[in-house]
Amino acid sequence: MDMRLGDIIDDFCVKCRRLTNHAIVSLLNGSAAKVRCRTCYSDHDYRNEQAPPSKKDLKKAALFNAVLSGVDPAAAAEADGEEAKKAAKKPGKRAEA
Ligand SMILES: [Zn+2]
Repeated sequence: MDMRLGDIIDDFCVKCRRLTNHAIVSLLNGSAAKVRCRTCYSDHDYRNEQAPPSKKDLKKAALFNAVLSGVDPAAAAEADGEEAKKAAKKPGKRAEA
């Protein structure tokens, strides 16, 4: 299907939190790259009509990947929050381990 700038296509809008009409504002390799919601007029990358994963899902995925790579899930969960920033500032962290 040929897409052209200004074409109206369905996509998921995170602001409207539902599928809405979007106008194509940028094309990449013949398909939509960026779109503008016709309801709230916000621009975003074209999502192929998929809702973005929730933060909960991302966390779950991170834990799953951590398990796959043999990392302790508890350590991985600790590493992706404020704890990681604090730990990074301390030289010689976990010296006792
Ligand atoms: Zn919208």
